[in-house]
Amino acid sequence: MCGIAGCYNTPYAPGIMRDGLFMLQHRGQEWVGAVSSDGNNFYPDPAPFRAQGLVMQALTNGTMHGMMGFMAMGHVRYSTQGSSELNNAQPHMAVTPEGPMLFCSNGDIVNCAQLRRQLTAQGYTFYSQNDGEVITKLIAWLWNTLGNPVAAIRAAKKQLIGSFSGIMMLKDRAFLVRDHLEMRPYCLTQSPDGAVFFASESVALDIMTADYPGLDQDGYALQEVSGSEIVELWGGTLIRHLDPALSPKRAHCVFESIYFSRPDSRVFGISVKRFRRRLGAALAREAYPVGDVVAAVPDSAVEAALGVSHESGIELDTVLFRHHYTGRTFIEPDQPKRDYAAKLKFNPDDESIRGKRIILVDDSIVRGTTMRKLVGMLKRHGCSQITLLITCPLIQHSCYYGVDIKGHLVAVEAEGSVERIKQAVGLETHDVLHFLSLPGLESCIPDPDNWCRACLSGVYPTDITCYEAPSAK
Ligand code: SF4
Repeated sequence: MCGIAGCYNTPYAPGIMRDGLFMLQHRGQEWVGAVSSDGNNFYPDPAPFRAQGLVMQALTNGTMHGMMGFMAMGHVRYSTQGSSELNNAQPHMAVTPEGPMLFCSNGDIVNCAQLRRQLTAQGYTFYSQNDGEVITKLIAWLWNTLGNPVAAIRAAKKQLIGSFSGIMMLKDRAFLVRDHLEMRPYCLTQSPDGAVFFASESVALDIMTADYPGLDQDGYALQEVSGSEIVELWGGTLIRHLDPALSPKRAHCVFESIYFSRPDSRVFGISVKRFRRRLGAALAREAYPVGDVVAAVPDSAVEAALGVSHESGIELDTVLFRHHYTGRTFIEPDQPKRDYAAKLKFNPDDESIRGKRIILVDDSIVRGTTMRKLVGMLKRHGCSQITLLITCPLIQHSCYYGVDIKGHLVAVEAEGSVERIKQAVGLETHDVLHFLSLPGLESCIPDPDNWCRACLSGVYPTDITCYEAPSAK
């Protein structure tokens, strides 16, 4: 998973882009990449800027002084394809008939290895293990072959299997592209003076437009970048190149709304906060929890815990405090880093725990790293019983679309047995573990046929037989 943000046709472009990218820090915390343009040159020079770290540490005021222009885009990286190193950071660059083009995206391409071989045979050299570079060079190759960028992007979308929400930037214009199934979120908005703002999540647009003239009073109209269009930003206008031949079928990633996106975002047209409250209420109706207090694993389960509390009538209390400078454990690039971050992340409130029957709500159990630590912590602080409620059904299948759900999945290692998962996370016989059922989850989704939940059901929205694991570099 990664995050992208950018803006067009505004004099404050690099600064606005940085603010938007900062709001997407939860989507990637390993690398930051950025570029801007004034129509004649990319900035910084040489472009793009790529650096390790968090947005505000990487895009320092000194770096920002070297960026200017009316158009900018940025990327935060979380490694799902390729290791955590500079060459795998985005944006990537390729040469087109109209000069250099920079591209950054969020998502994973399933048939990346085959496309890489195809492009290598055409003479392209790859400097990374990252699928973003494959998309970049595929579009460049097709543009050189077909003669225009829209035809090239259309042809590329037909060849790319998987998920991507991307920004393609030339010196004088940009294109916003998204996979047909709209697996990753992607939204945009326009100001009355013609500025355009685009990002992975609406929370970035909230901040990018907050003080913008003409938008601060009335708010803004949120739009999706559709998978059935290519948005071109050129000459001060927004042009939508529609592709009516494409299927209206979608496969929005349900894990975005369960865990990944911020609760104050709207993704795939729905409020994440309200969706998580519905999940919590559905959990309470399924599990009939008994206990003294409902508590959330902060922050991503707070809304679901409110839903459980509201539905069950059991008081919500704070029993765990989260250190906000540790970042997200799930998107740490390897297990030792995840273990260490999980240890530093939570601190319990002894008084709220000792002698209590606690109904603990979390969004998901993927590898079990965090949950083992939390259960041990509650036990050490004298919790008399834990009822663990999980809003995501059992994760028993790999994700090939950009979420790091592969390898040591606790539900797979337990062969789908809730009893064995209970033991694996340190719960005892008198404790309770309940995962929301798949029908329970589906009852909370407005239009289930258009959502991906392959990691739960094993039913994939695309071919996955073409997947080849990338070699480590
Ligand atoms: Fe999201 Fe799971 Fe589908 Fe991956 S497999 S896109 S995590 S719902």
